[in-house]
Order: sequence, then C-alpha cells, then structure tokens
Amino acid sequence: MLQDVLDHFQIEELNEGSWIGSDSVQSSTSLIEVYSPVDGSQMASIKPTDKKAYQTIVEELKKASEVWRNIPAPKRGEIVRLFGEKLRKEKNHLGKLISYEMGKSIQEAYGEVQEMIDICDFAVGLSRQLYGLTMHSERPMHRMYEQWHPLGVIGIISAFNFPTAVWSWNSTIAWVCGNVCIWKGSEKTPLTALVCQKLIASILQERGLPQAISCLITGGKEVGEWLSLDKDIALVSATGSSRMGKAVKLNVAQRFGKSLLELGGNNAMIITPNADLGIAIPATYFGAIGTSGQRCTSTRRLIVHQSVLDSVIDKLKSAYAQVKIGNPLDANNHMGPLIDNEAVQNYMAGIEACKKQGGTFIVEGGMLQVPGFEKGSYVSPSIALVNADMAIVQDELFAPLLYIIAYNELKEAIEIQNNVPQGLSSTIMTTNMREAEYFLSHCGSDCGIANVNIGTSGAEIGGAFGGEKETGGGRESGSDAWKNYMRRQTVTINYSADLPLSQGIQFKV
Ligand code: NAD
Repeated sequence: MLQDVLDHFQIEELNEGSWIGSDSVQSSTSLIEVYSPVDGSQMASIKPTDKKAYQTIVEELKKASEVWRNIPAPKRGEIVRLFGEKLRKEKNHLGKLISYEMGKSIQEAYGEVQEMIDICDFAVGLSRQLYGLTMHSERPMHRMYEQWHPLGVIGIISAFNFPTAVWSWNSTIAWVCGNVCIWKGSEKTPLTALVCQKLIASILQERGLPQAISCLITGGKEVGEWLSLDKDIALVSATGSSRMGKAVKLNVAQRFGKSLLELGGNNAMIITPNADLGIAIPATYFGAIGTSGQRCTSTRRLIVHQSVLDSVIDKLKSAYAQVKIGNPLDANNHMGPLIDNEAVQNYMAGIEACKKQGGTFIVEGGMLQVPGFEKGSYVSPSIALVNADMAIVQDELFAPLLYIIAYNELKEAIEIQNNVPQGLSSTIMTTNMREAEYFLSHCGSDCGIANVNIGTSGAEIGGAFGGEKETGGGRESGSDAWKNYMRRQTVTINYSADLPLSQGIQFKV
C-alpha cells in the first residue's frame, strides 16, 4: 500500500468525485471502491457525480468560459506552463500513484507523467501560434482571412490505461485555445484523476482565476452519457473502446455537437526478410507486453515473412523466457498486473478462443500468482501462431496475447495488416528502402500511424495522434490537432466604396 503517496496527495478514505477547480460539489450516490490491481488493497472510496452536481458544474463552466476566453492566449499558456512546472515537481509521486492504481510499470508511469510535461511545453508554444490563413480576395479592395475562436466547454472522457496523459493531451491544448474543460476519467482509475484535478486547481486558485476552468466528474457510462447528450458541451473528446465511441458519436451527432474519438487499435508489425532482427525483436517485446498489452497501440499482430519465421519465433521465445512479472513499482519488472480480475478473465477467454479456432501456442501464458502479491491481477504473456482469416484476429483483446501470421509477398502482408476493422498504429521492420516506401505509400498502411523500424507503441506528442476506421478518425496532441478545439471563421472585409459581388454577379438596385 502506497500510504505515503496517498498522504502526500491528501487522498482520504472517502473522497468527493465532483470538483469545480478546488471546490468539491456534494453528490449522494453509492460509492466507487478503488482497489489496486497490484496487491488487491483498497486504496480509498470515491463518491461518483450525481445529476444535480453535474448540472451545478456545467453552470459554473459556462460562467468560467466567459472569463477565460477573454484572457489572451499567451497568458492562458502561462497557466499551462505553471501546470507543467508543477508536474515536474510531482513526477515521482504521481508516477507511483499511476503505477499502483493502474498497474503499469513504474518506468511507463513516469513516462506517462513525462508525456504530460511534454504536452504542457507544446501547448505553451502553441499559445502564440494559433494561426489563421490569409487569402487574396477576387474583389478589389477586399481582404479575406481565417480566424479561430474557442468552442466553449470541452468534455473529456478517458480510459483506464492512460489515466492522466490523455486528459492532458486534451485539456492543455483546449485551455490555450480558450476553452474550459470538464473531465470524466475512468471509473477504474479515479484517484489519479482526482490528484491531477487538485494540481491544476491549486494553480487556478493561486492566480485568482475562475475555478471552473477545470472541472472533474466521476462515474461510469451513465455519467459519460450526460456529457454526450448535453448541448452545453461543444466538443466531446472520448478515448476508449470502439463500442463506447460509437455510442458517444451517435449521441453527440444527434444534437449537432462535435466529437473527437480515440478508440480501439489492432496494431500490426510487418517483419520482412530485410528486417534487422536486433531491432525488431525488442520492439515486438515492448509493443506486446508493455503496459501488459493494455495500450491502444500495443502490438497485437506480427506479420512475418516465411523466410525469417523460425528465427523470429526462436528469438521471441528466448526474450519471453526472460520476462519479469510482478510488482510494477519494482523497476526490475517488465510487466505489472492487468487492470482487474475481469481483464484476467477476458484474457483467459481469449486464449481459449484462439485455441478453439486453431491457433498454435508458441508461448502459453495465463493467470499468475506473484509471491507476496497473491491478490493482484497478474498474468503471463502468450504468443500464438494463427491464420489471418481466424475471427479472433479481428478483435482487440486488451491483454498480452500476440498473434503471429506468416506471409510470402509484401502486398499480401499489407492486405493482412489492413484487413481489420481498426486503423490505429502500424509498422514495418525493414532495411530495404523500396519495402519501407511501399508500406508508407497510398497502397500501404491504412492506419493513422505508420512507422519504420520502431514499434507500434510509444508515440511522441509532437505528431497528431489517432487512427482511422473503428479507431474513430480523431487526431489529438501535436501538429495541428489544436484546430479540433476551435471554430474556424472566414472573414471578408470590404474597404472600398463599392459593393462588388463575388463571381461577378450583377444585381443592381
Ligand atoms: P471503455 O470504453 O470501457 O471506457 C472508456 C471511458 O468511456 C470510461 O471513462 C467509461 O466510463 C466511458 N464510457 C463507457 N461507455 C460510455 C458511453 N456509452 N458513453 C459515454 N462514456 C462511456 O474503455 P477502457 O476499458 O477504459 O479502455 C480501453 C480501451 O480504450 C481500448 O479499446 C483501447 O484501445 C482504448 N484506448 C484508445 C486510445 C486511443 O488513443 N486510440 C487510448 C487509450 C485507450
């Protein structure tokens, strides 16, 4: 039990789950009990948000929006810079809390906080670069340009596997763009959400800003639905399963709202005969077992050329023989637990389904008892040789089961890769320029992310992140993803004494 970290962040036995900045809003609903997947200990209880508290929060958000959007963007950036500074100071404690509440290895948990720091830096720079284009008008003495305005209130729904980073990708960019944010974190990781809220709220309070610039609500699906159905929420940015994304998109679309979806992945790595296996094997290892296979970008399918199949299998077998599984707070371990026992059961069901459909196990994992951590949700990872036409290959099993599929021609490998409903991350391992460029061409990968000689997971914040098809089509984080959080306005100004019409239309009075 990480009592020192819980004390550091003043997490009590019973916590409010509804916050307007640093002000809690009372709710009267049954409690969410928070258990650590690391050792099964109860960490705390939290009161989910009820409808009345939600409505109170939304009214405050609307008032805060009036103030925040009138503060110049670079000054908004200054608040995000201070948040980044705070995160630098709290990296150690916050990393430990993420690891203990979610179960990812401490290295990856620190990486998650670093990602938050990086996106703060990015957003600060962006606060001086919210550029619009200017165009030449076809009419004399006319000027045309585009400008970008804030949307208003942004709703953020996030998944358990990146309990804090995904919120910060959205919130920091949304804030510099002049929006206020309401966050519903995962009901499986409410304490890290609570702590992040406390950190940003302390800065808003120090600076005398409206507390509702950042709000937190807590609960499950129904609380997320309030956001998706609420016309006061201009944009709902939702991260999670494709099933959830579809429900959110339908709700938001029927009220003509905007949605930004970051959903499930079913990511593949192609290993060609020209691959450097010294890179390909460690990239597969990290991609398949990092975060215990619970990243949206986890490597789920390894599409291997027949000529190197035996060699790849041998090398992966010896790499998997060395995997260290246990307490994720011990930096020597590569793999911590799955999020909960339900995830363990899903993994076991996935292994059974794979066997039933004819998969051959090269490494067969399963439930694992870690001495001293018997109540944790640990599993060991698996590798199975399968055919591309098996039904299991189409689904995202959120666990460390890696499928290997053999191929003969690169075109066939790319077809196998693209022939799934999801389209998030993809990679090719090759030292051959022709293979790499073909993979990156319009005939190649159909995913939002296409890599050469690095794994499918571990994106940097500077690029736009997201995927196609059932991954939802959204783009977050770097590049010009900020445009999702603003509305574009095209302006035409006539500074002549005449009124010429566009397209030369004559309409004389
Ligand atoms: P999930 O879909 O069960 O839940 C995600 C969030 O959505 C939670 O906060 C949940 O309460 C909420 N939710 C569920 N149903 C809802 C509904 N109908 N309306 C509104 N909100 C609803 O996902 P999870 O198990 O927490 O996370 C794993 C999934 O998330 C995987 O599919 C993974 O690939 C995906 N994911 C995607 C990305 C990405 O960037 N593409 C990043 C992280 C996770």
